[in-house]
Amino acid sequence: MIEESNEFDFENRIVSTEYDSMEDGEVEICLRPKTLEEYVGQTKAKSNLKVYIESAKLRSEALDHVLLYGPPGLGKTTLSSIIANEMGVNIRTTSGPAIEKPGDLAAILTNLAPGDVLFIDEIHRLSRVAEEILYPAMEDYALDIIIGKGPSARTIHMPIPKFTLIGATTRAGQLTTPLRDRFGVLLKLELYTTDELATIVKRSASILDIKITDDGAIGIASRSRGTPRIANRLLKRVRDFALVKGNGTITSEIATYALEALEIDELGLDNIDRRMLEAIIKFYGGGPVGLDTLAATIGEEAITIEDVYEPYLMQIGFLSRTPRGRCVTKLAYDHLGIPFGMNDIDLFS
Ligand code: ADP
Repeated sequence: MIEESNEFDFENRIVSTEYDSMEDGEVEICLRPKTLEEYVGQTKAKSNLKVYIESAKLRSEALDHVLLYGPPGLGKTTLSSIIANEMGVNIRTTSGPAIEKPGDLAAILTNLAPGDVLFIDEIHRLSRVAEEILYPAMEDYALDIIIGKGPSARTIHMPIPKFTLIGATTRAGQLTTPLRDRFGVLLKLELYTTDELATIVKRSASILDIKITDDGAIGIASRSRGTPRIANRLLKRVRDFALVKGNGTITSEIATYALEALEIDELGLDNIDRRMLEAIIKFYGGGPVGLDTLAATIGEEAITIEDVYEPYLMQIGFLSRTPRGRCVTKLAYDHLGIPFGMNDIDLFS
């Protein structure tokens, strides 16, 4: 039974994939793997990267520009630091929205040392003018600077050090073609399997000095929505329960107990997921419903629904994306305990 109110509490959502400085804070930084060896999963991306890094090192050249894409919390920032570390160069980090003026980007580029990595997070949010500075920088390692105005204006082609741009985005499709084409290496990060997440949980537990059994790690991993950031966050929450309600060790029982107390079900869904699925069933007969309509119904931005909520719901087969909109699948009906095809509004009254 869902409540009549359409208000969803998006604040303090434990299973949000987005970085939260209060929730993740400094700990997230100390949990970041430093080498490709330590970086769990993403086997395909990793094995290709190893070859490109090795080859660039043999040629004593900067690594080709790399575009990392995939949902938040999968390790794009982590991987970019690892690349810089493996190449033995410095990394300079910024983000698309942080670059307000094209001059800001030009200043960063001219201050890089040869071979350095420039990491631009949320690169799809870079302004058009800033993006145009990147074209010659990426292609010819130069900046085209216009000096003067009117008829006497002239362009100076200023060389900059050979560098590696690593762009991260949750949506590769939103990048303009000229920008996307300038990346030599495109790597898609995939949601992690439960086993991979259990390995990450055990690694984080040992860094944070938390005792955990194999079953306890699986219990957390299976509810982490394929996302290391969530796995690490749940680990910290479950540790509190282990200390207060148990003997300090995270066992399977403690993990189940804690996650039930946090209202995260055995598939990692929280109230917001359940209510979003129920809203599609209640108001739109299970779909199809357009993204914007759904966004308005639950009071969340369409982009957040697409980047943060949908990838996991689609991965577990609860939501399908059709040309006419989103549809809730039978699997989701079964999980919610609603008879498939019973979309009658009376069901909820
Ligand atoms: P993104 O930039 O994609 O949002 P981050 O790189 O910030 O994600 O990763 C979030 C957290 O997840 C990091 O603190 C890191 O500890 C952990 N993490 C991500 N990927 C991995 C991985 N492959 N192995 C171990 N830990 C990981």
